[in-house]
Amino acid sequence: MNLIRAEVLGYCMGVRRAVHMAREELAAAAGAYRVYTLGPLIHNPRVLEQLRCQGMEALDETDLPEGLGAAALIIRAHGISPQWEAALVRSGARLVDATCPKVKHSQMKARSLAQGGYRVFLAGERHHGEVIGIQGYAPQCLVIADPVEAREAAEQLYQEAPAAKTALLGQTTIAPDEYRGIAAAIQASFPDLEIIDTICRATMDRQQAVLKLCAQVDALVVVGGRESANTRRLLALAQAQGKQAWLVEAVSDIPAEIRAYPVVGLAAGASTPEDLIDHIAAALIT
Ligand code: SF4
Repeated sequence: MNLIRAEVLGYCMGVRRAVHMAREELAAAAGAYRVYTLGPLIHNPRVLEQLRCQGMEALDETDLPEGLGAAALIIRAHGISPQWEAALVRSGARLVDATCPKVKHSQMKARSLAQGGYRVFLAGERHHGEVIGIQGYAPQCLVIADPVEAREAAEQLYQEAPAAKTALLGQTTIAPDEYRGIAAAIQASFPDLEIIDTICRATMDRQQAVLKLCAQVDALVVVGGRESANTRRLLALAQAQGKQAWLVEAVSDIPAEIRAYPVVGLAAGASTPEDLIDHIAAALIT
């Protein structure tokens, strides 16, 4: 079998940084104090298991234990709201902020726009941690999922405040076409809408690499966790190109029929570590 790797694959900068910070904190703690994350640090079961074995504990975001006093609490790459942050600080835990710098930039932008009197539209998935976190920095912001919602929200705001200064921020992983569509829908009511570019290239780069790969291969393996939305999106993208494609979390997931394909592509989501990609690649070519 000829195996071709995607030009861009695996960890993005924000996830790599968060995992590195977690490992550093675990090494510093060396069992002397507890190290927590709010929810899973990363959507990859293998990495989570490694971190768990090193002492990392994931807390349920809705059920914090009493007396976090001596513990370290790692904030994940997609960040949290300032209200949550204040509550955690009050709990006594020492926060280790692994918020991705790109998400931090969106948070700071949301705050400065809100302080500057703007009505902020935030395009993204309403229940995603990143969106909830950014929303906390501009409490009056309007979260919108698509152009239809954007048009309705803008029309309603126009009824209430036709002279409002408006701005648009997006979840870092939103598709550029979708973002443009949402912006156009708001501009129908507010032509002076200030559009802030908050899109992270990491997701796009991996998607474009998969599209390019699809033109070169007979079938495709996407390495990553089943809980990882961006990994699943890469799989769907390959399948939409008419390619036979599989999501592989571990060597045991590699299907036997893959041997029938002379040229196979290898892609991986932004939460997939290099050693796992290499491990799967080695298993494919042996
Ligand atoms: S996808 Fe982009 S914004 Fe999200 S964690 Fe990775 S680098 Fe940061």
